[in-house]
Parts: sequence; C-alpha cells; structure tokens
Amino acid sequence: MEYTPKDEKLIAERFGELLESCKKICRSDDDWEIIKKAFNVAKEAHKGVRRKSGEPYITHPIAVARICVDEIGLGVKSVVASLLHDVVEDTELTVEDIGRMFTPKIASMVDGLTKISGVFDDVESSEQAESFRKMLLTLLDDVRVILIKIADRLHNMRTLGSMPHEKQIKITSETLFLFAPLAYRLGLYVIKSELEDLSLKYRFPEQYAEIEQKLEATKLQRDSLIQKFDGPIVAKLRENGVDFDLSGRVKSVYSVWRKMQAKQIPFEEVYDLFAVRIIFRPSPLISERTQCWYIYELVTDLYTSRPDRLRDWITYPKPNGYEALHCTVMGPGGVWVEVQIRSERMNEVAEHGVAAHWKHKEEGGDALSDEKFDAWLGRIREALSNPGENAVDFLDNFQRSLYASEIVVFTPKGENRMLPKGSTVLDFAYDIHSKLGATAIGAKINHKIESIFTPLKSGDQVEIITSNKSAPDVGWLDHVVTSKAKQHIKNYLRRARQVGVARGLQMFEQKMAQLGIAPSARVFRKVLPAYNSANKDEFYKNLASGAINLDNLQDVLRQNSASKYLKFWTLFQGGGGDKSADPERQWDADEGRRFEIAECCIPIPGDDVTGYREKGKIVVHKTNCNELVRLASQHGENIVGDIKWSSHKAMSYLSVVNVQGIDRIGILMDLVGVITGELGINIRELRIQSHDGIFEGEISLYVTSIENLNAVIANIRKIKGVDKALRSA
Ligand code: MN
Repeated sequence: MEYTPKDEKLIAERFGELLESCKKICRSDDDWEIIKKAFNVAKEAHKGVRRKSGEPYITHPIAVARICVDEIGLGVKSVVASLLHDVVEDTELTVEDIGRMFTPKIASMVDGLTKISGVFDDVESSEQAESFRKMLLTLLDDVRVILIKIADRLHNMRTLGSMPHEKQIKITSETLFLFAPLAYRLGLYVIKSELEDLSLKYRFPEQYAEIEQKLEATKLQRDSLIQKFDGPIVAKLRENGVDFDLSGRVKSVYSVWRKMQAKQIPFEEVYDLFAVRIIFRPSPLISERTQCWYIYELVTDLYTSRPDRLRDWITYPKPNGYEALHCTVMGPGGVWVEVQIRSERMNEVAEHGVAAHWKHKEEGGDALSDEKFDAWLGRIREALSNPGENAVDFLDNFQRSLYASEIVVFTPKGENRMLPKGSTVLDFAYDIHSKLGATAIGAKINHKIESIFTPLKSGDQVEIITSNKSAPDVGWLDHVVTSKAKQHIKNYLRRARQVGVARGLQMFEQKMAQLGIAPSARVFRKVLPAYNSANKDEFYKNLASGAINLDNLQDVLRQNSASKYLKFWTLFQGGGGDKSADPERQWDADEGRRFEIAECCIPIPGDDVTGYREKGKIVVHKTNCNELVRLASQHGENIVGDIKWSSHKAMSYLSVVNVQGIDRIGILMDLVGVITGELGINIRELRIQSHDGIFEGEISLYVTSIENLNAVIANIRKIKGVDKALRSA
C-alpha cells in the first residue's frame, strides 16, 4: 500500500520541522545526508502502517527524533537512531541491514532500542524485571539509547488519548514506575514532570481536571502576586549589575496532587504553588558559586528567608548532577515563595541533565564533568550487576535508588562519599572496601566511638575500627541499606555456611568410619534429634562450629533415642469390674465412640468414673458428680458401674515441624491448642521467633504415625495467619 497524497503532504511537513530543528546540530553535508537516508529507510519500512490515531506510522519516529533534538538536546547519531528505532521490531529489516546501510554504532543503538521495547511485553513481572535489568546493563555503555527510549515514551504518552483504556492504564503504570524515575535520575526534570502529569491525566481524569481548573482559576491572583514579588528583585539585581532572566514557575498538576495525597489536604491548603527562578549569565571575574551566594544575599536583603529551607546544591550537587541554590522567602502578603538561583550552565544541566553531558561530548566540546558523570554511571552499573539478587527485588531496589536522596560522608582523609539516606557505618565501610566492611567492629563518628549499626548523617566524618577476629553475621543484614553491603554480607554468609557444612560433613564421616557404620537414613533419624538439629546442614554446621561434638555418638546410635513411648489412656468396660484390661478391648476408634466425657464434671484419666447410658452411648462422669447422682436417682437402670481407665503405651516419634506466618495476638495459643487439644499430641519443645510482624517457629512433637503427623500439619495450616507448616525432621 502506497502513501496517499494527503499522507505525503503531512509527512513532508513533519520531516521539514525536524530538519528545521536539526539546523542547530548538523555540522556537515554528511550529517544532513545520513538523517535524510534514515528518514527514507524508515518511511519505506513503515509504509502502509498507521498509528491508532490514523496518522501514518512514520510520524511517530519523526516526532521522537524531534524530542531528542529540541527537548533533550541530543545530536545527529541520536536523530538517526530515533528515526530507525521501530524499524527492526516492526518490519523486515534486521540489525545487520542497518549495520550495512549505516554504521555499526547506529546499528548497535537500534539494536538496543529494539531490545528495550520487548521488555514490557512479558506479563510475568519477574521476567520483566530480569529483562529490564539485562537491557540496562547492555545499554549503560550508551546512555543515549535510554534517552531515546524516554523520548519514545514521551511521544507515546502525548498521544495516549487514542489508545483503549486498559492500554492507557498499563502504559501509565510503567511510566510512573520506571520512566519518570529514570528521567529524574538522568536529570530530565521537565520531561519527568510532563510524564507524571500525563500519567495522572489518564489515570485519574477527574482529579486531574479539577486541579488543572483550580490552577487556572487562581492564575490571575498568582500573577499579580508574582509581579509584586518580582518587581523589587528585578530592580535590586539590575542596580547591582547582575545580568539575569527571571521567570515564575507554577507547580505541576502531579506535584500538587502528590502533595494533596501525602498530606491529605485540599487544594486550597497547598501553599507553595509557585517558585521563582533566577538564571544569571556569569561575570567572567567571579566564580559561579560566589555569584549564586551574592544573588542570594541581594534577595534576602529584600525578603526574610526561612533558614530551614535553604538548599545548597552547589557545594554538593544532587546525584543526577543538579546544581542550584534554593531558598524560601516570605513574600508580600505573607506567602512563602521558593527562589531558585542558577547560572546558565547550571540551568542547562538542570533541564537536560545527563544529556547536556552528551551534547557537549558529541559537539567535541568540554564535557560537563566526566568525573561526576562516570561516578554516577558507575553506581548504576554496580547496582545492576549484583548477582544473586532476585529480579523483582532488584527492580524494586533500582527503582528506589532512582529517587533516593543521598548523604555526603567524609573519610578521615577528607574524601567524600555519597551514600543513600539511611546508610549506617557498615554501609560506609563496605562502600570503601569489602574487607573493611567484613572486619568492622565500630567507628569513630566525628571522633566519638559508635557502633557499626549507627545511622550516618550528612557531614559526618567516619573512621572505621576493625579487628581481624570480627566477621559478618546474619544480623548485619538488618542494619545496611546499600545493595553493595547486602551483597557482600550475603556472599560471606553463603561461603561461611558452605565451608562449615563441608567441614562438618568430613568430621562426621571420619567418626562414622572409625565406628565402622555407614551413614543411612536410619542413622540420621536418630542423630538429628539427639543433636538438636533440624536438618543435615544444620547438624554439619553445628559440628564444624563446635556447638556439638560426637563424643557420645555411639551411645546415641545404640539408644532408641529418636523415639519413646507415650502414655495413652483408654476407657474400658470391664466384665465383673476387677479384671485387668483386655488388650483386645482397648479404646480403638470404633469403641471409643461408645464413650463420651460428661460436660458437667469433665473427668480426666485417673479419676474414679461411672457411666450413664444415654442415646446408645455411655456418658462418663466422675463417680461423685452431682449431676450423675441426680440422674441415677431417677433412672438408676442406666448406670454402668464397671467403667475403668487403663493406660497403655504407644511408640511415638520425635518430629519437627517448621511454622511460618503473620504474627498476631493469640497465634501461639491457637498453635498449642490445635496440637495438644484437638489432636492430643505431646509437644516436646516450641520455639517461636517473631520479627517485623512475621513469626517463625519450630515445634518438636511426639507423634505416633505419619498419618498422625500429617493431621497435625494440616490442622496447623488451617490456623489463621499461618502461611507455611512443613515437616523438617
Ligand atoms: Mn516507538
């Protein structure tokens, strides 16, 4: 199917606009050539395909390329890759074809873009996370691919109106969960804000419309306020020879909505609705930093500032490279206004983020700060390449790390380290070196000795105290937040465990060989309970650590220690009354039903009892029960006098059940009740641990058979809150 004349006209128009934008990035004829070639290839490849809106498909890659140039500030290669970004996925062309027609670099960018788009097609979230992680890993070498993907997403969000509602929900969810944080982390504030606003618009259309309408309704009032506020600043800055632009900025619909949600307040109570931005052209004689503070001084000469709201992003830029000085001052009419002070260069970084870095690089100019950029990239790469972390956890951590605020901590030599908020001494130690982390026993924080679990604050100076005798333990995991520290501790524990298990196994085998016994399932049935171990691994580990020794192994094996006799009580009806119990007539299942324990006096084994015949059953009372006396006085014929208790022994086995679930008041009572009450089983030991609302327990009990044990487990599982009940020995 060919393009219609109307299509051709529209496409030519859109492409013309792109070429117009490209004027600022094309340096040579070759640049123009390759862009036109990419356009022609894409146009041919997408021929006959239309978007949901009805427009020819090629209008989408053109729009994405324009966003890359105009809104992100990328260069020629990115425009070419943008034009081709859907070609491999949607048409016959392959990455190899692209490589032949263009350059290997372009081909690898298109390859990356094709791979990312496959990511969100899987429904299974763990698979999705896994492919997302792989994608980021392969793509981090060229951040431009992610930037183009963000441009792609932005255009799809802008044209989301023509999509069916379920599609809108899916796309906006991904956008809020991944693309907006990614854009934020890459420093694309404006795009991040638009992505959030658009997501809100399609998810909660009414709320969006309401806030938008209220912002509109209060605009005049705000404008006059800004004017009143700005006037004196403009005059003062001019007077002092500052070359600047001043602009007002209203909070985005999304951030107003977020604030209303977070604080549960109505629109009218969101007071800091706008901010004022001063962007200055630096004077060659004074440093940008000094100039920022100078302007701050001029502004605070006019208006009173709130010291707690001063943010110095100049001395310590945000992890995404953002630099500026923010202060909040009291404006006319007692309204707080945020004032942002930035140089033109800072503003470029603020708007284009990491892209500003690429732009300078592509133009062969000065890169903004290679060192900072590499450090940022390094941190993301490190988070991504964590082996052993499950994919969903990873995605969660990664997403959190995109938004996390950071603190700056100093080494004794005065070097600074950026750590996520909430980091402890251990995080800091592991950040420097895994060995330092593993041997840490304390720290001097600002010259005061503190524990390794102490949370750090921005500005702390930290010196780690180590000891070679110290080693990580499981508890450490509760006191670290960085994935680096977590991973090192987990690795250490895994290794230590393996070493311990291997050594324990060797010790056990040696001892068994000395005794001339071959290890068998029967042997372990005796050994594990005797040494209080839930399973073989634990047994070997305890052995290796010296928690248990095998000196009495021979006795253990000789004894029937894994089992013991348990006393069972039965009722029986003796002929003549004084004959000893006939084993054949003991209380088996059938016969047991003939007896019923009277509810009035509840006799227990050993009590002197008398029966009373009622509805085909014999109700057993204490012989001195008043109720029985009353009954007997009326219907003496129903009395059965020769009921006796008899005890006998049954073989029972020690068994261990592991239980896990949600902690709640009364759960322990329920557990004990189910086991001892309903099933009449003896508990030998009950160990319950509860932490963070989860309880874990190990119940050692005596059972008479597998059926008996399975019945216990089935009943435990029925208890409210219990998640898991498994036999472990
Ligand atoms: Mn696309």
